[in-house]
Amino acid sequence: MPHRPDLDRLWFDPAEMLIGGVWRPASQTLPIGDPSTGAAIGALARGTAGDIDAAVAAAEAARRGDWGRMTAAERGRILARIGRMVLDRADDLAVIEASDVGKPLKQARADALALARYMEFYAGAADKVMGQTIPYLDGYTVYTLREPHGVTGHIVPWNYPMQIVGRSVGAALAMGNACVLKPAEEASLTALAFARIAAEAGLPPGALNVVPGLGEEAGAALSGHPGVRHLSFTGSVAVGRAVQAAAAANVVPVTLELGGKSPQIVFADADLDAALPLLVGAGIQNAGQTCSAASRILVERSRYGEVVERMAERYRTLKVGPALADLDLGPLISARQKAIVEGFLAMAPEGAVAARGSIAARAPAGGHYVAPALLAGPGPDHPLAQEEIFGPVQVVIPFEGEDEAVAIANGTGYGLVAAVWTADGGRQMRLAKRLRAGQVFLNDYGAGGGVELPFGGTGKSGHGREKGFEALYGFSVVKTVAARHG
Ligand code: NAD
Repeated sequence: MPHRPDLDRLWFDPAEMLIGGVWRPASQTLPIGDPSTGAAIGALARGTAGDIDAAVAAAEAARRGDWGRMTAAERGRILARIGRMVLDRADDLAVIEASDVGKPLKQARADALALARYMEFYAGAADKVMGQTIPYLDGYTVYTLREPHGVTGHIVPWNYPMQIVGRSVGAALAMGNACVLKPAEEASLTALAFARIAAEAGLPPGALNVVPGLGEEAGAALSGHPGVRHLSFTGSVAVGRAVQAAAAANVVPVTLELGGKSPQIVFADADLDAALPLLVGAGIQNAGQTCSAASRILVERSRYGEVVERMAERYRTLKVGPALADLDLGPLISARQKAIVEGFLAMAPEGAVAARGSIAARAPAGGHYVAPALLAGPGPDHPLAQEEIFGPVQVVIPFEGEDEAVAIANGTGYGLVAAVWTADGGRQMRLAKRLRAGQVFLNDYGAGGGVELPFGGTGKSGHGREKGFEALYGFSVVKTVAARHG
């Protein structure tokens, strides 16, 4: 069973950071862990507050220099070149990501293709963001300009590094911002790989700076830096609060993409054959370490037993193993994450485990493996049905009628994604309006998919939107120009 990461494929040194177009060795390093084996496989740059200072200064210089003077069309052309080069290297990027994050190779490859798609989308969109002309008083001409914020800070988690770098940095660059990116300490390799590709594609020095490092060190320095004019944060609620507080001190806007406890609601008239692959797939994708994982399945009571049994059948076939073995699930990112998930599972009421998958016999003993678990029994207020577990655990909950379905679905502090499975068109429209979520899927579910689709949450899931055109509005500011000419 293959599990040796092939880090010889790296075309950069992960102990270096990219600041102002120069690869600089870090003064200290962190171990790079392989979740599939638990072994350290290399050394990662540990950026300091001083490195963040240098990166912000380099970004500011880029804004004042060649990058800031480029037209939107020229920025788009560079993004298009980056997209093509990402596609050319998708296989290498996938192996690097699989080794670093532990995700099955096919998921890692899908992430590499999504990274390319973000570049393609924002390449095409860069010169299509327009202002308005506004009818005003007699003798005036009034129009708006959409301008970049300036230096933008991007703090990214470990679960989908390529996708989140793509959506956040892609949109920010398209609008002409200069970026300082702090990838997660657990998984920084593809962010560095991407930066190398972007430089080769002609992105001017300083337009994208990458400083890996610890959250409380490099991350905190970036979120509190007075030279940063906009922050984009994806991660946990607790750190999101800290980042927002740091941004408030400098009075800069923040986009927060936080967690979720997203429901799929299955009514009795649903097409179960169509729903089943997504009911399970959207829960176990990336071993459940997905902010928009469908971790709650709400089922109308008359078909509850049938749905539990059909999901359980699928669970019993699920296999967990090393990333490069490319099974249904890989390991969790770390021993810490595994302990968190096992702690949640220990809270399951007696008899609540409807089915579990299995860990491949030859999976390395040091890997962070958890067999996926389907739970039927915890009520809607149980912590297993309320808190984000961030592991391969789904809870199935019965309901009676639309009102109860909506009450349960909206009954957590989160509001990221929801799905409704029903043949009744009126019910689809009613629920789309009543559900508290940033995205609602009707007879479908997209765990994070859709480069074109605005994405983000309400409540504890965060605020602001990334992806699609909405992200371009978020990464720009409106200036109103009012000319009195008589
Ligand atoms: P995390 O909040 O611990 O870390 C996220 C990033 O923040 C990392 O880069 C980390 O280094 C940095 N960080 C940590 N402490 C910091 C500090 N004090 N100041 C500034 N930066 C700091 O989250 P995680 O464990 O990496 O990711 C899991 C969480 O992310 C889950 O809750 C998940 O739902 C959420 N998530 C949300 C989305 C989304 O789009 N909504 C996507 C992926 C993950």
